[in-house]
Amino acid sequence: MPKTKTQPHAPRPTRPSVRGVPYEVVTSRQRRLHVPHRSRHVPASDWVDFPGRVPATWHDFAREKGFRVHARLRDRFHVALECTACGGLTAHKAYTLRTAQPRCGACAEADLSDAARAAGLIFLRRDTVHRHYGLYRAGCGHVVRRQREFVERVAAKRTDVRCERCLRAREQVEAARQGWTRLSRDPKGNPGYRVYQHSCGHVQRVARVNMSWGQVKCAACGGAWNARNSFIYLLRIEVPQMGLHVLKLGFSKTPVKRHRHQLGLPRSARVELVRVLPMATGHDACAQESAAHATLRRHHLDVVVPPEVYAGVLNVKSEIYEAWGFDLIMGLLDQIEADKRPA
Ligand SMILES: [Zn+2]
Ligand SMILES: [Zn+2]
Ligand SMILES: [Zn+2]
Repeated sequence: MPKTKTQPHAPRPTRPSVRGVPYEVVTSRQRRLHVPHRSRHVPASDWVDFPGRVPATWHDFAREKGFRVHARLRDRFHVALECTACGGLTAHKAYTLRTAQPRCGACAEADLSDAARAAGLIFLRRDTVHRHYGLYRAGCGHVVRRQREFVERVAAKRTDVRCERCLRAREQVEAARQGWTRLSRDPKGNPGYRVYQHSCGHVQRVARVNMSWGQVKCAACGGAWNARNSFIYLLRIEVPQMGLHVLKLGFSKTPVKRHRHQLGLPRSARVELVRVLPMATGHDACAQESAAHATLRRHHLDVVVPPEVYAGVLNVKSEIYEAWGFDLIMGLLDQIEADKRPA
């Protein structure tokens, strides 16, 4: 049995890690060929078989490193390796085969799929331009573009998926409720603002927070908000240096203007108003909100964050939920919203 031939100056073989190892897939061959991202400039038509005998040492190295030499490729420096674990083909330099642990592109892809599944997502493909991003299908059915690291945070239940298209749909509903149409993002680039059109035709830049509470006045016709509503709201709160990522479900008789201040949060905290449901009466809002908390405590106790976790950071004693409970809580809000419509 041949011993591992370690050359004196050869880089030490690294453990096969799939983190951040991007591969392109060449499909013009009979079998899918994974090509390291650094060779992406090589046209697919170059990845053809290269004539000539495969040196015996290449077979030895391949066997020791978990591969089988499938063929020589492209030029005298390249080789197609077949992974003994998954059967996938990956192009590598013969130099890599000799001096390092070649990695299997198919295993890396499978690993991305596994990570996505753990996060409740379906891995579709890598972003062809920004190699650290992938395209995933979210539970809502939309395609989201995310970094691998973000997917791992979702899988670890540290955050939620945050689908932009669902957000836009919610913004459209919020605007329609007030007699406005959401047109676009803010041309000035402020992430808190959107461009809306009033039912009178006037187009205006409005803070999304104000639109969601219905606190908006049309500069053309003077059409103003109805101040009689009460609200159920959902906030996403992040205090990065404490590793705190939670949701707050609450009820208020007035638009919650300065939630950062009212919650006693540090300046570094990020607070995002995810959703607002205006309710006809304060009694109604309070009753529905209480029922939602009761449902969560009774049936989803694991989503309730124990007060010890946020004591001293947040000025509240309850109503704080795990970030991963996002879909669950949004589902409860959907029910409340559906119920209040006349039958
Ligand atoms: Zn493999
Ligand atoms: Zn979505
Ligand atoms: Zn108007």
